[in-house]
Amino acid sequence: MRQQPFGRNGQSASVIGQGTWYIDRGDRAAAISALRRGLDLGMGHLDTAEMYGDAELVIAEAIAGRRDEVFLVSKVLPSNASRRGTIAACERSLRRLKTDRLDCYLLHWRGAFPLSETVAAFEELLSAGKIRSWGVSNFDVDDLDELLGVAGDGKIACNQVLYHLKERAIEHGVVPWCERHGVAVVAYSPFGHNDFPQPAGRTGGVLQKIADAHQATPRQVALSFLTRKPALFAIPKAASAQHAADNAAAGNLVLTAEEIAALDQAFPRGAQPRSLPML
Ligand code: NAP
Repeated sequence: MRQQPFGRNGQSASVIGQGTWYIDRGDRAAAISALRRGLDLGMGHLDTAEMYGDAELVIAEAIAGRRDEVFLVSKVLPSNASRRGTIAACERSLRRLKTDRLDCYLLHWRGAFPLSETVAAFEELLSAGKIRSWGVSNFDVDDLDELLGVAGDGKIACNQVLYHLKERAIEHGVVPWCERHGVAVVAYSPFGHNDFPQPAGRTGGVLQKIADAHQATPRQVALSFLTRKPALFAIPKAASAQHAADNAAAGNLVLTAEEIAALDQAFPRGAQPRSLPML
């Protein structure tokens, strides 16, 4: 599995990671096996959040004894993102995850607390060694500009945003902004949550044809397309070991320029929306 720089402080993470939203809802043992299979195949980049119910507890079991293989990301809810609230939320996440540090800690989306408060808390957590970097999620270009003004250059490790074949709004402004400022762009819901193109449809047919040429699956082609630039990562959620293995294999799939152009045409990015879409 390819690892690539994550932000500008020397960290790196697997290009394809593992999401965990709803992973606590089904068969817990299967979920733990899926995460471990992903780790075996180099998908050490694990994404969770205080919002995701018991997902942090599931991760704690999956990574027991393997912490050094993991690039662990969690998120603070906007309603907790005051200076003291952020620190308390991080400490709760560390306890649930049974670890002493997060590799990156994110503000889940923008809320009512001033960014200066959340950033001050992130910096305090950094100094205390409880997090190794921090970032944001669901930030549009104007939010990123404001955050840069508060934090200064080189501080924002990542922006985690909605990105899949049918939702390419981030390509207009967010991706170029992040590329300019050395910020990792992490694609969440890379399979559209539950809206992956069907093979019978016209666009699904384009995907299938490219997949067949590589003896791959349409989802592997999608992951390869979504991570085609060095700033881009993707964090599909898989609750079965087979799905995790399939997703890991996408880390080795390189599409040709013609295939990328065909996908670009089949799944046009469309006009820039007024505000950044989020799930
Ligand atoms: P997703 O990854 O787009 O899709 C998950 C669905 O795809 C599940 O039904 C899963 O089934 C299925 N799947 C996964 N791998 C597969 C494979 N190889 N073959 C067939 N089906 C496969 O959805 P998501 O959970 O919304 O997004 C991924 C992660 O992004 C989340 O888990 C979360 O960590 C993060 N996220 C962040 C935000 C944010 O605001 N920052 C918002 C949404 C999501 P199984 O589970 O049965 O394997």
